Amino acid sequence: MTALLDVHDLARAYPVAAAGGERRTLHAVDGVSFTLARGKTLGLVGESGCGKSTTAKLTLGLLPATRGRIAFEGAAVTAERDRHWRALRRRMQMVHQDPLAALDRRLPVGAQVVEPLVIHGLESGSAARRQKALALFEAVGLRADLFARYPHELSGGQRQRVVLARALVLGPALLVCDEPISALDVSVAAQVVNLMQDLQARFGTAYLFISHDLKVVRQIADEVAVMYLGRVVEQGPPDALFHAPAHPYTEALVSAVPTPLRGTQGRIILKGDPPNPVERPCGCAFHPRCPRAVARCREEVPPLRPAADGRLAACHLAAAVPAAAPAATSLRE
Ligand code: SF4
Ligand code: MG
Repeated sequence: MTALLDVHDLARAYPVAAAGGERRTLHAVDGVSFTLARGKTLGLVGESGCGKSTTAKLTLGLLPATRGRIAFEGAAVTAERDRHWRALRRRMQMVHQDPLAALDRRLPVGAQVVEPLVIHGLESGSAARRQKALALFEAVGLRADLFARYPHELSGGQRQRVVLARALVLGPALLVCDEPISALDVSVAAQVVNLMQDLQARFGTAYLFISHDLKVVRQIADEVAVMYLGRVVEQGPPDALFHAPAHPYTEALVSAVPTPLRGTQGRIILKGDPPNPVERPCGCAFHPRCPRAVARCREEVPPLRPAADGRLAACHLAAAVPAAAPAATSLRE
C-alpha cells in the first residue's frame, strides 16, 4: 500500500551574506527522506535550528524545496498555488506552537471552527456548519458554552483544543504539528497529548509531530526521526531509540531526559554549541561535539543506513546490518 506521505531527499538551502561580503549557503534541510502511513505518527526531534520547522513547512508546500520531492495521497506537493492547492490544504492541516497567535482575537472561537467549512464550501447552510463545529468541540473536550467566547477568555489548553477542532473539522488525513504543546504547562500538555492520541484513534489522522521533548515523542510516535543540522541522523521505533540509541547524538538527547530512578544523573554533556548551519563541519557534522569521534569522522560523511533493531543510523560506529535485513525505513500499515 502506498504511504500517505512520501518525502524523498528533501532539501532547502538559503543564500546568506557572510562577513566580508562573501556569499554562503545555509542548508536548513539537506536530504531528508521519510514515509508516513495513514493514521500513524512520525515524531521529528532535535535541537532548535536543526531543520524541523523547515521540514514541516516544506511538507505542507508552504515553502518551495530546493531539491527532492513530496507525495501526499499519491499526488506531488509543490509550493505552487495550482489547482491542487485548495484540495491539498483541506487534507493537510497545521497545528502551531502558540494557539493564541494561531487564532483571531476578534472572532469567537466557535466561528473560527466554522470558518474552514465556509472557505472550503463544505456542509450546506450555517446550521449544518454550526452543528459540525459543535461536534468537533465535543470531540476535543470543549463545552458547548465556550463556542461564543473569544480566545483571550480561554485557557492555553482550551485554546489549543480549539486549534485542534479547527484543524480537524475539514477531515484532514494529516496534521503537521510543530511543537504543539511547548507553550503549555506540563500537566496541560500531557492532557493535550492524550487527547491527540484519542483523536487519532477516532479519526485516523496521521501526525507529523515535531517536538524537542523526547518523552512526549516516545509516548505519541510510532516512529522517531532525530535531526541534526538539517539531516536525519537516526530513525526507528521509539523504544529501540530510547533503550539503545545507535547514534551518539540520540544517546546524548536520551540521557538528558530525567527518569524517576536516576533523575538527571548520567546526562551526557555535549561539547560546544550546536554549530552554525552555514559552517557545517566536514565529515560527520556532529564530530566536533561527539564524545566517540575517531579520525575517520572528520573526513567521511556517514550515510544513513540500516543499523540494529530495525532502525537507520548515520554513524560510522553504529553496527551496520546486512542490506537484506528488514529495516524500519517507513511506517508500515
Ligand atoms: Fe560520532 Fe563519528 Fe558517529 Fe559522527 S560518525 S556520530 S563523529 S562516532
Ligand atoms: Mg522550530
